Amino acid sequence: MKRYNITLMPGDGIGPEITEATKRVLEATGVSFNWEVVYAGAEVQEKYGTPLPDYVLDSIRKNKVAIKGPVTTPIGSGFRSVNVALRKKLELYACVRPCKSYPGVPTIYKDIDIVVVRENTEGLYSGIEFEKGSPQTAELIKLIERTNGSIVRQDSGISIKSISEMGSQRIVRFAFEYARADNRKKVTAVHKANIMKFSDGLFLETAREIAKEYSDIEFEDRIVDNMTMQLVKNPNQFDIIVTPNLYGDIISDLCAGLVGGLGLAPGANIGNDCALFEPTHGSAPKYKGMNKVNPMAMMLSGVIMLRHIGEMENAERLERAIAAVIAEGKNVTYDLKPEGERDQAVGTSQVADAIIEKLKE
Ligand code: NAD
Repeated sequence: MKRYNITLMPGDGIGPEITEATKRVLEATGVSFNWEVVYAGAEVQEKYGTPLPDYVLDSIRKNKVAIKGPVTTPIGSGFRSVNVALRKKLELYACVRPCKSYPGVPTIYKDIDIVVVRENTEGLYSGIEFEKGSPQTAELIKLIERTNGSIVRQDSGISIKSISEMGSQRIVRFAFEYARADNRKKVTAVHKANIMKFSDGLFLETAREIAKEYSDIEFEDRIVDNMTMQLVKNPNQFDIIVTPNLYGDIISDLCAGLVGGLGLAPGANIGNDCALFEPTHGSAPKYKGMNKVNPMAMMLSGVIMLRHIGEMENAERLERAIAAVIAEGKNVTYDLKPEGERDQAVGTSQVADAIIEKLKE
């Protein structure tokens, strides 16, 4: 029987609990895995002098497929995001975040099936930043004044937003190819090209050019502020959304909210060589070790991973089992219980037990 070599990163906060639950349901499908377990984040920084040791990257490059739990990023000071670094270093340029309604979830919207395709390697997440008061910042402020005529206040901190033609072509093409492969009808590009003419403007212009190569799929664009309003008002009009990095991050959380919250929002980071699967949510530190949070976002990331490695039938089986547990509404975590019934919620590991039982049916 075929065994798949997969890098497994439990992460921190709630990461280890949801990873364990996910590993159990993936194994219960009958697919055979060799897990290569690796660690990143604050816990390894002391030992390796970096929160993202090379051995982690080497493992993913070798195995080509990885699944991970969330990793905490210190806010303001401290090390930069391990999650962003992984996507950049492995050139995982496409972040795919499907948001789908499952019957039984207490939510006001029904029948939503939106996929957010977010550019993962550039935009405001390039990590090119200049700290307030540093000599480099002073030099940059002078350069801006000399070349652009704009005055930037001396006490400013600066984050650079850069969007390339190549990066835009690559992500928009990915969105259209995804649309074709998944039998979808429409791609909506989201931007703020009216204000940021040279970055978002380039993204939009490139998107329009690429759209001409895909006359079988409808194309439209929306300004990001209007988009958030329309997503709340009438989300069913959208199919695939393609967008630069920051808007994609925000919109995918919004879309997760439409279908019942972060506990049901899976994600995939895809590059030409490797793929890394992870839930959209973070490490929710306040729930660490409490056996409380919903493992389904990570399990559904596992479903996408199974499809990626070609285990289509087992992916369908696992998704059906998760959907059945949601529909029954008995063995679900607090976030999937209606207000007033939250005291009847079960824990993370009991959700895994219930899904494993369904897989046996
Ligand atoms: P978060 O997603 O961790 O949590 C926000 C809230 O959403 C939680 O308090 C909880 O109420 C709810 N929630 C999240 N996951 C849930 C689940 N599985 N089940 C039920 N409810 C859930 O966001 P945050 O608090 O802003 O971030 C915490 C840390 O996670 C930060 O350090 C952040 O940088 C990091 N983060 C990591 C990733 C990643 O690893 N890819 C992604 C986002 C945030």
